[in-house]
Amino acid sequence: MKIDAIDVTVFTYPTRRESDSAGHSHPGKESQAKMAMMTITADDGQKGYAFSPAEIIRPHIVNAFLRKVLIGQNPFDRERLWQDLVHWQRGSANQLTDRALAVAEQAIWDLIGRSLNVPVHKLLGGYREKVPAYGSTMCGDELEGGLSTPEEYGRFAEKLVQRGYQAIKLHTWMPPVSFAPSPKMDVKACAAVREAVGPDVALMLDGYHWYSRSDALYIGRELQKLNFAWFEEPMEEQSMDSYRWLTQNLDIDVIGPESLSGKYFSRADWVKAGACDILRAGVQGVGGIGPCMKVAALAESFGMDCEIHGNGPANLMVVGAIKNCRWYERGLLHPFLDYDEPAAYLNSIIDPMDDEGFVHLPTRPGLGEDINFSWIEQHTLSHE
Ligand code: MG
Repeated sequence: MKIDAIDVTVFTYPTRRESDSAGHSHPGKESQAKMAMMTITADDGQKGYAFSPAEIIRPHIVNAFLRKVLIGQNPFDRERLWQDLVHWQRGSANQLTDRALAVAEQAIWDLIGRSLNVPVHKLLGGYREKVPAYGSTMCGDELEGGLSTPEEYGRFAEKLVQRGYQAIKLHTWMPPVSFAPSPKMDVKACAAVREAVGPDVALMLDGYHWYSRSDALYIGRELQKLNFAWFEEPMEEQSMDSYRWLTQNLDIDVIGPESLSGKYFSRADWVKAGACDILRAGVQGVGGIGPCMKVAALAESFGMDCEIHGNGPANLMVVGAIKNCRWYERGLLHPFLDYDEPAAYLNSIIDPMDDEGFVHLPTRPGLGEDINFSWIEQHTLSHE
């Protein structure tokens, strides 16, 4: 089998999510958003697909790097192809990002899975058929009845537990919210949620990412009193030593790094430095499913869990194929939005959850996306 073509279809779809001035997603009025679908076609007609924001796989990236490396190659040589793309990154003047690598790599996995009629989590080495999900809230806002007060977080948490969630992660308030950042408000929201759900639901906090060591230590100590399961990204992750210091000064598990670049190399440094208790990686952030599996194996080799960042098919495939991960991140969730409603370009969501809070691993081949091709065709802006 050889890769014959790489195409990118950019299309519009309606959304009720909007971004604030710092890029955080919130509920909003319905508007049209843009999405891109990469299609990798093999010489036998088999296809693999991956979705991405259009800017990440803009024409220059596809022409200058992806087509040059991948066309004419056997998609089953996925690791070599990925390494060849990695080598291109240095000379690309930072244009070929880890995120672009991840999109191409996901489409290759999807192609392989579809051609064999096997889900990717089974190709990776299946570990489980279902995984408990944690409900991951949107960042706090100033919308009445939304996530604007600790009490509203508490009420939403109660609803999430009624829906079946066994765990909840709060994203609290960040600028441009007028009173953010505020360590005291973060702690109040966490206390309100603990009060609302009782002692048996696992809780995590992912708040403002640029707190000082002193603020992070204060919040972490309060989370310990509230019996939280982990404390995520309270400080700039470029400062590994700050995380080493925080991890040494707290009993609660500190998790990271999430947004730091450096693929598995930076994660190895964090493990060696003792800068986290739980390692973190997401497919989009570390350059693909393959490198994400390497981070998980690194963590497992040191007796550590590796919690996978983000929702979606690729992250779910990794969660389904590793032992040292307790949860799947389901979200982002908000009282005004229905997470179970599929985006218009999909026939169904990848991660339906049962009443006990478990997401069942998809049985469809490849990445398991249930794509509405005719809808995409009718809403195409460009196809290259
Ligand atoms: Mg996070």
